[in-house]
Amino acid sequence: MTEYDIIVVGSGPAGSAAATTAARAGLNVAIVDKATFPRDKLCGGLFTGRSQKAMRAIFGQEVTSDLFVTTDHMRFLSRGRVLADIPNAPPVHLTMRRDFDAMLHGEAVKAGAVPYVGQPITELGNSALTLRDGTQLGFRTLIGADGVNSFIARSLFGKPFDPDTIGFGLEIESPRKPECDGAVEIDFDAASWGYGWSFPKRETVTVGVGGINAKNADMKANMSAYVDQTNSDPDQRFKGQYLPFGDYKRKPGRDNILLAGDAAGLVDPITGEGIALAMESGQHAAEAAIKALKQNRPQTAYFHYEKLVKPIQRSIDQAKMWRMIMFPKATEGYFRKAFERGSSLQMKYLELLAGEAEYADLRGALLRRIPKLGWRLLKHRLGFRGPT
Ligand SMILES: Cc1cc2nc3c(=O)[nH]c(=O)nc-3n(C[C@H](O)[C@H](O)[C@H](O)COP(=O)(O)OP(=O)(O)OC[C@H]3O[C@@H](n4cnc5c(N)ncnc54)[C@H](O)[C@@H]3O)c2cc1C
Repeated sequence: MTEYDIIVVGSGPAGSAAATTAARAGLNVAIVDKATFPRDKLCGGLFTGRSQKAMRAIFGQEVTSDLFVTTDHMRFLSRGRVLADIPNAPPVHLTMRRDFDAMLHGEAVKAGAVPYVGQPITELGNSALTLRDGTQLGFRTLIGADGVNSFIARSLFGKPFDPDTIGFGLEIESPRKPECDGAVEIDFDAASWGYGWSFPKRETVTVGVGGINAKNADMKANMSAYVDQTNSDPDQRFKGQYLPFGDYKRKPGRDNILLAGDAAGLVDPITGEGIALAMESGQHAAEAAIKALKQNRPQTAYFHYEKLVKPIQRSIDQAKMWRMIMFPKATEGYFRKAFERGSSLQMKYLELLAGEAEYADLRGALLRRIPKLGWRLLKHRLGFRGPT
């Protein structure tokens, strides 16, 4: 059996970040993925300034035109009605995950991680795992970066996520039409506790809807309506995938086994951004494992990781407070109106999307709105229908 200091399972943004960090630190690293690269991954591919920063820090890569399209044109809607059309917003980038993830996986291998691709992990023991073809690999520490349906999370906790709180998204790649003006579109009302997106890439437009699964009785119907509204290709088959949407794992790991990215539930519960959080947590997981291995105490890896991953979890908690303005029926009208007026909320949302602001920076704006929102919630609860 071949033995590794660190085995990373999954070579998406989280796993490739972990493997690159660990291999560059000189450790003996394997990266396992059930897919061979390039492979598709259902995703809008919106890449924020936060993602850009993480990619630069971890992989030393910049946003380049072969992998990204950049735009500063954003449009926000409510069931097709334009709330705001902003041609000079802080810029965001768009990528196709097929190409982007292949680049990241290539970086991990270039850094020295040994790839085992094309077969899933089928068994996990205390210090060894088995691949489908029977290959056994030994590890001192293990990083589970195997996505939302994580085998590693299931092995640790019995299930990969909570079905009551998980998000779900549907998407198509619709051919880009000549009249497409390249604006990134977000429709706040295409799904409950979620949104619809239309993200133009070079040849296609990624069109999708997503939100908390339990709050959307018929996501397919939401998607059909959104495809219709955006005049997208009606003949494309919808593809669906779960995505964590605020319900991260309070304890993402145990002893020498750490979870990163979607496997740890780390996705922004408002914007659905997961790429940046995956890269950041993958890097932190590797740093924690490196520290534990240097001290020759692999079982303490989780102890180190818990501290490093806390700020990401805290930012998700802060986003969940903002979500209480945007998503519940009682307050959504307030948010839409404020957004339409071009209030500071609009700018803050744009800065968040672009990765130029963090939820912690917005605490003051939230506190200022609490009295008005509290009154609205109370009226809603009492069924009061007077002027708003
Ligand atoms: C519809 C949708 C739209 C989204 N849009 C955006 C967006 O626009 N911007 C954004 O930032 N985020 C978006 N996200 C979230 C983002 O896609 C994820 O948060 C991100 O991909 C998480 O990265 P990861 O590395 O943790 O997992 P993944 O990218 O899912 O990678 C996991 C890897 O593990 C491998 N794997 C799985 N199981 C096994 C196994 N048993 N054995 C071996 N390998 C295994 C898989 O093949 C895969 O390569 C979206 C998600 C969805 C579902």
